[in-house]
Amino acid sequence: MTKRQKKRLIPLLIIAAVLIVGSLLPSLGLPGVPGWDTLFTEAGLRSGETDKLPLRVHFIDVGQGDCTLIQSGEANVLIDGGKPGNDKKVTAYLKNHNVKQLDYLIATHPDSDHIGSLPEIIAAYPPKNVIMPRLTEKNTPTTKIYTRLLEAVKNSGAKVIAAEPGMSCTIGEAKMEIIAPLAQYNDANEMSVVARVTLGKIAYLFTGDAEGKSEAAMLASGKVLRADVLKVGHHGSKTSSGKDFLAAVNPKAAVISCGQGNSYGHPHSETLSKLSAVGAQVYRTDQLGTIIIATDGKELVTQWEK
Ligand SMILES: [Zn+2]
Repeated sequence: MTKRQKKRLIPLLIIAAVLIVGSLLPSLGLPGVPGWDTLFTEAGLRSGETDKLPLRVHFIDVGQGDCTLIQSGEANVLIDGGKPGNDKKVTAYLKNHNVKQLDYLIATHPDSDHIGSLPEIIAAYPPKNVIMPRLTEKNTPTTKIYTRLLEAVKNSGAKVIAAEPGMSCTIGEAKMEIIAPLAQYNDANEMSVVARVTLGKIAYLFTGDAEGKSEAAMLASGKVLRADVLKVGHHGSKTSSGKDFLAAVNPKAAVISCGQGNSYGHPHSETLSKLSAVGAQVYRTDQLGTIIIATDGKELVTQWEK
């Protein structure tokens, strides 16, 4: 993919440079003049070739947390919304990408770095359907943010769907299947809704913060886990991304959503080594900002913000 990505990026860089200031071109490479990277960043992400592809997945940079927008045809799916304080950034991003309504909102699990901004996002973009893990009474959090999420969902009038493995739906031309959770766990991370999205030969796997127990259950379930693009579990923590799990997924691209200098030390070096061992190219929001990986069902096209 690296080769392909380079091929695609070069014309983009040229367009970006021309768009900004034609007069800078003769000076490129000289001291004091913005380089290609700066020009690309300033040109933003909206004019890229990914816009035209039938399936576009946006890993929105929300610092330490997760927020992923999936677009295909007229359909939009949001997985998580980042910690509190990201709502304005996320709703502006949705607006800039012509989202009028969310067909599905997946709240992977009740942790604040995933659902923290969802109450405001739901108020601005009332979803048709909300997919959440079904929690036992004992495992249902009493946190303020979870209560606010449930209130926002209720007020939105959305249909609430308890995530069940095997459930599937169409997203434009793509298909989405729920893979996990496969059991009731006391650990909120292990309750993460895991979804696999496919278009043609290409597959994406979104794992929330699923850790070792859920990964083992997914492997034992016999479900197809293979994915060209993996949203790496739990921000690249060593408690996720077991060797056997990564071997089954066998990703070409691995996206880690984490904040610069986060206090957890995510991503852990053990995870990066394991991803490297399966030959995955790693994309990190703390380094690249928002990352888009789009496809026509045959190959991947990648763009990023910084
Ligand atoms: Zn998390």
